[in-house]
Amino acid sequence: MKDAGQRRIHLADYRPFSHRITQVSLTFRLAPEATRVISKIAFEPNPGAEPGPFFLHGEELRLVGARIDGRDVTPEPAEGGITCAVPEGPFVWEAEVEISPATNTALEGLYMSNGMYCTQCEAEGFRKITYYPDRPDVMAPFDVRIESDLPVLLSNGNPVASGPGWAEWEDPWPKPAYLFALVAGDLVNHPDRFTTRSGRDVALNIWVRQGDLGKCAFGMDALKRAMVWDERVYGREYDLDVFNIVAVDDFNMGAMENKGLNIFNASAVLASPQTATDANFERIESIIAHEYFHNWTGNRITCRDWFQLCLKEGLTVFRDQQFSGDERSRAVQRINDVLALRARQFREDNGPLAHPVRPESFVEINNFYTATIYEKGAEVIGMLRRLVGDEGYARALDLYFTRHDGQAATIEDWLKVFEDATGRDLSQFRLWYSQAGTPRIGVEESHADGTYTLTLTQETPPTPGQPDKAPLLIPVAVGLLSPEGAEVVPTRVLELSQPRQSFTFEGLTARPVASILRGFSAPVIMQRKLSAEICAFLLAHDTDPFSKWEAGRALAKDLLVCRIAGKPASEAACFDALEALLRDDDLDPAFRALTLSLPGEDDLAQTLFDAGRTPDPIVIHAARRAFRGDIAARLGETLARLYDQMVTPGPYRPDAKDAGKRALRQAALGYLSLNDGGARATAQYRRADNMTEQLGALTCLLDIARADDALEAFRNQWRGDRLVMDKWFGLQASMAAPDATETVIGCLTEDDAFDWKNPNRFRSVLGGLAANAAGFHHPSGAGYRLLADWLIRLDPVNPQTTARMATAFETWRRYDADRQGMIREALERIAARPGLSRDTAEMVSRILGD
Ligand SMILES: [Zn+2]
Repeated sequence: MKDAGQRRIHLADYRPFSHRITQVSLTFRLAPEATRVISKIAFEPNPGAEPGPFFLHGEELRLVGARIDGRDVTPEPAEGGITCAVPEGPFVWEAEVEISPATNTALEGLYMSNGMYCTQCEAEGFRKITYYPDRPDVMAPFDVRIESDLPVLLSNGNPVASGPGWAEWEDPWPKPAYLFALVAGDLVNHPDRFTTRSGRDVALNIWVRQGDLGKCAFGMDALKRAMVWDERVYGREYDLDVFNIVAVDDFNMGAMENKGLNIFNASAVLASPQTATDANFERIESIIAHEYFHNWTGNRITCRDWFQLCLKEGLTVFRDQQFSGDERSRAVQRINDVLALRARQFREDNGPLAHPVRPESFVEINNFYTATIYEKGAEVIGMLRRLVGDEGYARALDLYFTRHDGQAATIEDWLKVFEDATGRDLSQFRLWYSQAGTPRIGVEESHADGTYTLTLTQETPPTPGQPDKAPLLIPVAVGLLSPEGAEVVPTRVLELSQPRQSFTFEGLTARPVASILRGFSAPVIMQRKLSAEICAFLLAHDTDPFSKWEAGRALAKDLLVCRIAGKPASEAACFDALEALLRDDDLDPAFRALTLSLPGEDDLAQTLFDAGRTPDPIVIHAARRAFRGDIAARLGETLARLYDQMVTPGPYRPDAKDAGKRALRQAALGYLSLNDGGARATAQYRRADNMTEQLGALTCLLDIARADDALEAFRNQWRGDRLVMDKWFGLQASMAAPDATETVIGCLTEDDAFDWKNPNRFRSVLGGLAANAAGFHHPSGAGYRLLADWLIRLDPVNPQTTARMATAFETWRRYDADRQGMIREALERIAARPGLSRDTAEMVSRILGD
């Protein structure tokens, strides 16, 4: 059982396991409340380990019996598992345990979801299935027998035999227990085939419940494209005869890369034009690719211990971002990745939960599946690639795959292949893995006698446990434009390694305009004060799409910050620049749509806080809304033209081209609805034959408080579709007006369809509340109390989701004393709950800074 005691685990304490495993055989006799798991495991001493007691993890297991080499033994209970006296040489361990999947609401280990058995073992769920060294550095081949009356019985690897009521699977590739999976259910499949580059014929299946069979085609297409891409770009082929994906309704994460049997949150795989938006399609494509790419970066080469989580996650996120950029638009992908990084990782890195990409210690590993590990982990790899070049990166990756295949590796191993393949010394670069916090980059410029000098400074603010920071090696991509807007120095990567460093550019008769941090070449905050004129100039002329977009963003953000402060500012340049950009039909519609989206309320709050001010979410909300109204008034004609122009002819296609047009049309509709009283949105709602346009129209109507009829109609139309109903809940929670939020959340949580034990539904409502900055931070404190009440209720049922959602409070130090007091009270109330889970206890105490 989990206890609230905070036993901390340290990277420095890593010791190899006493034994190696040569073969694992498991038999499952499935029954909802009394599943029998019979294990037979061949151990041999690990020559690389110091001798020590033989310890196996195990939690919430009822031991029926255990034997060593056929003789009954009685293991001793120990914290988190058992110990047992074992022979000096190789031996065979056998155990029979009983577990109860039906009452396992934490959704870790073997559990049930709507009558179907499924597993989630990463990070430490396998110890709830049987006694085992549940650590990633113990890798073994598994064979599995499943006995059940259910028609579909799946596990990892290849099917070897089956009959009525049983099936046997064999996975020849050694793997850690966290990649084990089992599924049993009344399922149907969407089948396909794939032939690898070397001629292996692979059966592909997406397994779903009967009613969902029409929602698999896109996911299957994305899978095949990912398989082709990984062969072409990384030279990686699939290595089994079958690849199965299963959709599950109750799932804590997005999806899980179990070897040969990926298990997906239904929301991350099921899609049809009528039920999924363009954003859903894009997310599905990226998650399917991500989990598939793990087959090499995660499964064939895994992590030595959980401190190395970024080794598989940072690299695999980097790979899925590359894939999405290649399949869609690199520029738009990069901007979206940076938006997500800033919204989640910068927020984390600048608050009480800041931690290095490779943490040094943890209490509960589930709390470290974070934006820092995933998204900053991917950024670190992007920087590495910039520093060694595309060819150096390709050589290093080839070496990584040949040198470490079949191993459990570390960040040291990863960096060593780059050093060996490219001859580069990465000793300063590796600080990116150990030092938390977002570096601030300062910029000074001068120009004299034809020489332009760019001086960059760096400073990383203190983070919990790391008061002093060393200078990092930061690749800063820079290009120079002439005063007329022509590019005079194309992109060059400057290597900033000192606290303060100057770079010179010769032969420039006129003072150039510098475009700095092109492509967002490093995860840093640029503290460069640019005039509205320079921003407008870069927005018009920059050749780097990211920097072009960034200039527009900076322009809008500066004006919003002035409005929030009640300071007058000249806004004409901004509106003119925006209008010129919207009218430029040579620009990708998706890119123009991104330029129309203003910085979010949370982003503005962080910006104000960074500038030493105390943000008021209500004031921010009102200022942003007023600014949107002014854009609508000033650019109404251009927006109306775009709305009419961006129609996509023919049937709905989820490709990047059509999705980009719909995104721009939707962005225009958002502004136009502020002017036309919802006339266009109402008409669009009635006409819509796809979820993107239907939900888009509903969003606009909710925005102007004219949505009652549409909400009712939407509910009646979609009451039978879980994933669409999540949207219905989420939209109302996240868009409720500040004064109405408490009432709206109250109604939603009392709704018959609010199944709070389902993580997707819980997240749609309570996550929607947390995303509604002005409603959540309402001065009454009702938002804080509501979330705390629900987290207290969810914790005993599902600690993992509770802990993750507690991060809604991580920004508390930004706000005024009243709000801080109320948040502290909410957090202390959660902390005081008797029997609080280890997950939530650790998270709350870190947020409080205790
Ligand atoms: Zn992953």
